[in-house]
Amino acid sequence: MSETITTGIMLERLGECWDSTEKGFWDSTFSESDRTKIFRNREALAAIGARLEMADRMEARIKKLETALRILSNRPHVENDEDSFYSCPKSKSGCLDKTQGNKCNCGADEQNEIIRAALEEKEG
Ligand SMILES: [Zn+2]
Repeated sequence: MSETITTGIMLERLGECWDSTEKGFWDSTFSESDRTKIFRNREALAAIGARLEMADRMEARIKKLETALRILSNRPHVENDEDSFYSCPKSKSGCLDKTQGNKCNCGADEQNEIIRAALEEKEG
């Protein structure tokens, strides 16, 4: 299985492997001026790499959570199959209790709206 090399991993390794024995690689890849800059900044590069790695992990986690939230944002209205007197007025079969009016009384509209607003806020 091949590893995905992100910018974070690359920078972290760049910072860490300066002291390794791969001097030929460094000499043939970077000019002396660049090698000096990299050497001076190797700890900063490793730290930046670690931060970028953390950001990549958080981004992946946020994507999973967004997928879960999109599913949860489609919560259906409560439908009581045995007695539609107790169904939400906005359910497919409606509610026999006309005193309930036409508005959702099961909480689905409220929950779905909260989740949709949170997803739009993030995406916008
Ligand atoms: Zn409802």
